[in-house]
Amino acid sequence: MAECTDCGRYLTPTSVNPDGTCPACGGEVDGVRSAQAIPWHFWVLLSAVVAYLGWRVIQGVGWAVSGLF
Ligand SMILES: [Zn+2]
Repeated sequence: MAECTDCGRYLTPTSVNPDGTCPACGGEVDGVRSAQAIPWHFWVLLSAVVAYLGWRVIQGVGWAVSGLF
């Protein structure tokens, strides 16, 4: 949960402006940057999924080509 330092509103990360400021008063919002930061293990998982799907595509193309000829 993020809190605006100027007007004291509690804000969810999605209700904060894209630049990390309060939508009501434009002040700086505490805690939103860490809440919006994407954790490193997300990128590890994403690259693993992309590598796996890429390998399956290569396998699928190879299977399709070998089936055609
Ligand atoms: Zn505010």
